[in-house]
Amino acid sequence: MRTIRTVSELREALAPERRAGRSIGLVPTMGFFHGGHLSLMRSARAECDVVVVSLFVNPTQFGPNEDLATYPRDEERDAALAEEIGVDVLFAPSLDEVYPVGFTTTVSVHGLTEVLDGHPARRGQGHFDGVTTVVTKLFNMVQPDRAWFGQKDAQQALVIKRLVRDLDIPVTVEIAPTVRDADGLALSSRNVYLSPEERERALALSRALQAAEQAVAAGERDAGTVLAAARSELDARGVEPEYIELRSADDLSPAARVDGRTLLAVAARVGRARLIDNTVLGGA
Ligand code: AMP
Repeated sequence: MRTIRTVSELREALAPERRAGRSIGLVPTMGFFHGGHLSLMRSARAECDVVVVSLFVNPTQFGPNEDLATYPRDEERDAALAEEIGVDVLFAPSLDEVYPVGFTTTVSVHGLTEVLDGHPARRGQGHFDGVTTVVTKLFNMVQPDRAWFGQKDAQQALVIKRLVRDLDIPVTVEIAPTVRDADGLALSSRNVYLSPEERERALALSRALQAAEQAVAAGERDAGTVLAAARSELDARGVEPEYIELRSADDLSPAARVDGRTLLAVAARVGRARLIDNTVLGGA
């Protein structure tokens, strides 16, 4: 595995592969790898000739009161894990390489980015502007045939799909299922912020999703009733959600009933960690 830090070196490394007709897969990440990242890498490894993993803690997707300064980082460990999976290139550019002096462009997806995490009282649309701008840049830098994202960030996955469709970016977006610890907690780089007691309370999120899944499996379709089942799990562990909402899994429009694929998305702060999780209910 090669670690590459500049766009010119990256292009030099990938051009002959592309000319030889070899498929290129990209897994964009902010590092501090866990099983979720590794599962995306394994899928890319299984399905593409050349696998590029980007590692860049993108400052423009963090709000002023968010955890950019303390976001966990360990490039050496990340490189060892990626190498073990057979990743070909770890692309770890500097801040200046991605945002050189004079950088002024923003890529914005509207609509989908204004609800849930994008609501102005939460991370806000600026968060998604940061994501869509850096992902557009990564797509242009790597020019992958396929790129892998996690369902853990369900809204982000929908936003990236819309970005690719709206801007005719020639990449196939693959969404991989959420990887969880044995007790249900969705893996996240931010889980390192949790004390043992907080980690226990954090289980409220996945338990809430499970309660909703059970209600739907028992025939319940009314959004209010399904949400009440989920909320009772949050209440039981004293977790106050930032939001817990049912929305269409296709366009994030509000859902009054679980008819068709319905996204149940939850966000809550537990200690220092802002956690998100989701499940798709009522899918075929
Ligand atoms: P991050 O480094 O947190 O920006 O995540 C990089 C990619 O990994 C994103 O596409 C995430 O959606 C995905 N990801 C993060 N956590 C998980 C998880 N628990 N299961 C599957 N994918 C994940």
